[in-house]
Amino acid sequence: MARRANLGLFHRRPCKIPSLKVFHTITELREHRRATDPLIALVPTMGALHEGHLKLIEEAKRLTDEVWVSIFVNPTQFNESSDLAHYPRPIEADLAACEKMGVSVVFNPEPDEVYPPGVVASSVDVPSLTTQFEGAHRPGHFAGVCRVVLKLMNLCEPRFVCFGQKDYQQMIVIEAMAADLNLPLLIQRVPTVREADGLAMSSRNQRLSEEERKHAVGLFKALTLAQQMIKEDEHFDSETIESAMRQAMQAHHIEPDYAAIRHPVTLEPVDLIDGEVVALVAGRLGSVRLLDNFLI
Ligand code: AMP
Repeated sequence: MARRANLGLFHRRPCKIPSLKVFHTITELREHRRATDPLIALVPTMGALHEGHLKLIEEAKRLTDEVWVSIFVNPTQFNESSDLAHYPRPIEADLAACEKMGVSVVFNPEPDEVYPPGVVASSVDVPSLTTQFEGAHRPGHFAGVCRVVLKLMNLCEPRFVCFGQKDYQQMIVIEAMAADLNLPLLIQRVPTVREADGLAMSSRNQRLSEEERKHAVGLFKALTLAQQMIKEDEHFDSETIESAMRQAMQAHHIEPDYAAIRHPVTLEPVDLIDGEVVALVAGRLGSVRLLDNFLI
C-alpha cells in the first residue's frame, strides 16, 4: 500500500501556477505595480494579436522578464465609428497568446475605466508631426493616441515601451513626445512582421475578402518599387517615385490616400534623395484602410 501511495505522489503532475495576471481596473493594476515594483517593458496594443504583436512581446522579453501588455481598443483614436464597431476583439485567444509568450500582466480595461465620465479631458499632441498623412486622413487620431499612450505609461511606469515600425508615423510621434516631455523610459522600435507575400500583418487584414487579400500586396509592391528606383538611381526626384508608387497601388485596386517619400525624422519633403528616407503609403481596398512603409 505504502509503495503505491508513493508512486501516486511521484506521478502527480506539478500544479500549474498561473503566471499571467489580468487586470481590468486601474486600482488593481497600480496595487500590483506598487507591491512588486518590477522593471517593466510595456507593449501597448488594441488586441486581436498577430505575429507582429508577438514580435513586440518577444523584443520586450529580451529587455526584461517582466512584460506587460495592454489590450485596449481606444475609442478616442478612431475617427470612423464603423471602424471602431468592426474592430476584432478576440480576448480569450489574446490572453492565451500572452500566457504562452510568458507575459506577466495584461491590462484590459473598459473605456469608462480609462475615460471616467465627468473627467475633464486634456490633450497632448506633437503638432509638427501630426498634421499630415494619418493625421490628415484621421482627424483627432494622434491626439487620441498620444493621450492614451501617455496614460498607459503613467499607469504602468515601464522602463521600456515597444512600438512597431509598421505604424511609422505613430512611432516617431511617440518618440518625440517621450523626448520632449522627458518621460523616464526608452522607446524600443520593432521591425514590421510580414506575411509570405510581403503584406504587413495587421488586425484589419482579417476584414479583407479573398479577392482583396490578393490585391493587398499592392502596398508592399509600391514600396519595393520605390526602394528599387532609389537604389538604381539615387538622383530620382521624390515626385517621380511617388507617382510610380500610386500607380502600383492603383494597379491592385488600392485607392491611395497618400504615397510619399519623406525625411525619416521630420517627415518633411525631400527633393533629391541623398540620405535615408521613409516611403509611406496608405490606401483603401474596399472598405478596409491599410498602411505600410519602408525605411530606405
Ligand atoms: P495595434 O494593436 O494595431 O494598435 O498595434 C499595437 C502595436 O503593434 C503597435 O506598436 C504597432 O505598430 C505594432 N504592430 C502592428 N502590426 C505590426 C506588424 N505587422 N509588425 C510589427 N509591429 C506591428
